[in-house]
Amino acid sequence: MAFIVKNTTFPSLLDLLSPYSCRGCGRLGEAFCECCKNNIMHNRNGVCEKFRDHKNLPPIYTVSSREGVLGELIHDYKYYSIKALAKPLAEMMSESLPVRLPQNSILVPLPTATHHVRARGFDHMYLIAKNLSKIRKIPVGRMLVRNKNTVQVGANRKERLSQANLAYDLNPRARIDKDKTYILLDDVWTTGASIEAAVKKLRAGGAKRIIIAVIAYSS
Ligand SMILES: [Zn+2]
Repeated sequence: MAFIVKNTTFPSLLDLLSPYSCRGCGRLGEAFCECCKNNIMHNRNGVCEKFRDHKNLPPIYTVSSREGVLGELIHDYKYYSIKALAKPLAEMMSESLPVRLPQNSILVPLPTATHHVRARGFDHMYLIAKNLSKIRKIPVGRMLVRNKNTVQVGANRKERLSQANLAYDLNPRARIDKDKTYILLDDVWTTGASIEAAVKKLRAGGAKRIIIAVIAYSS
């Protein structure tokens, strides 16, 4: 008799087998060790170059490029649902942000499509936001919602942008305060279309101060 293993079963099994071995170096102890984190944080040359063409956007902070270990971490976190990686990813994000952030800041995770949340068993950016919230003592606000049945399939930037504009909306239950700083969080910057759309919504809702923080950018 054959039985089907749902792809969500595999990751939890992986987690079970090696709950405390570093994804970077294999060392036992934690999901991603201090040493591997430092390696990433100290090899961050030219991270600003990527965003030079986006002068209309608020300041963008990022940990590093998606190449190498950081990319694998994000991949394992999202596609193998290894929740333990939320903490080290949030710690690196925290380090990539200015030491002093404006008072009254709010962390705004970019909302994920519901079917992805269901497949993973958790909302990956929300979980990172919660971890970052603990580290920086900044509350999380779900200021944006994701509209149903919108996926980015557009080939070019313009198509992706118009699709992204349809994908997000202001959360009708949240109220934008123009005196607060909204720190928009996302995992990977590819074309920037999602972030750009989200910024537009926040601004339309009255947000005056926005900061962007992405874990990685794809090169
Ligand atoms: Zn390590």
